[in-house]
Amino acid sequence: ALLPPSARVFVAGHRGLVGSALARHLTAEGHEVITRTRAELDLRDPEATAAFLQTARPDVLVLAAARVGGIMANSTRPVDFLEDNLRIQLSVLAGAHAADVDRLLFLGSSCIYPKHAQQPIREEALLTGPLEPTNEPYALAKIAGISQVRSYRRQYGRRWISAMPTNLYGPGDNFDPETSHVLPGLLRRFHDAVAAGSEEVVLWGSGTPRREFLHSDDMARACVALLRAHDGPEPVNVGCGEDIAIAELAALVAEVTGFSGRVVWDTSRPDGTPRKLLDVTRLRALGFEPAVALADGVRDTYRWWVGHKDS
Ligand code: GDP
Repeated sequence: ALLPPSARVFVAGHRGLVGSALARHLTAEGHEVITRTRAELDLRDPEATAAFLQTARPDVLVLAAARVGGIMANSTRPVDFLEDNLRIQLSVLAGAHAADVDRLLFLGSSCIYPKHAQQPIREEALLTGPLEPTNEPYALAKIAGISQVRSYRRQYGRRWISAMPTNLYGPGDNFDPETSHVLPGLLRRFHDAVAAGSEEVVLWGSGTPRREFLHSDDMARACVALLRAHDGPEPVNVGCGEDIAIAELAALVAEVTGFSGRVVWDTSRPDGTPRKLLDVTRLRALGFEPAVALADGVRDTYRWWVGHKDS
């Protein structure tokens, strides 16, 4: 079996959006999940990472640790996004190979595809055109990771795979309005406006870009489906197959947070790529369907944040 029920899984990045959902999900399915906090293990450090993996000897490794952030964080800290991700990938994959880890799932991102890729984006679009400049350093690091996974497969016969998740959201996300992705950023901005009795919310860009959103619980289920059923060099897109304009998303978030004022678009802020919708034919062929509707997921995520924002 590609994922035996007894498999011990190291979830690298178990405090992040994907890693936390995945650790919950694997534990519920009866797997032993191994975790290390950033304070216990700096995954950018090759010696420390290799030593840990030699001792822990997981059967399966999911690399859900990465430096991630929204459009502003990516454009103001490009060195961190490029170097931290390259360093994490180098030390974790080399360490996993040395420790003879049989199954490994690497998480890429939908932003690795060319800025003007045909929509919905098929996996074959990788490396067929120029990238979106606002997150090129992050995208290049992730593309290197995909190549690294494929190279370990080719040179050493490792049963390692890559997934390309779309924009993810859910409990445990980063809600800092300056560095977050759009969905938690909007929940925060609308919530703060309601709390302050303000009649106006300022959002970034034109509101016309389209994005696809997948709840982290669905992402966790997709990761398990891939570990169970996929073993090949081609990455697999993970999305829900539907996208929404940022202005429509803003209307949904306004409703969820109870904001009834007006939205002003600050077009001095970047729009990023015009559209990012993944073709999920491959994932569907593995039997995966998302379960969380966007409106429900946004409501749950908002409830989670309201309960956790002070801690
Ligand atoms: P992207 O998917 O890599 O472009 O990253 P984001 O999730 O950060 O942004 C998605 C889109 O939402 C872009 O078009 C942004 O301009 C737009 N947007 C509107 N308001 C906000 C906001 O408050 N925060 C963020 N991060 N994006 C916003």
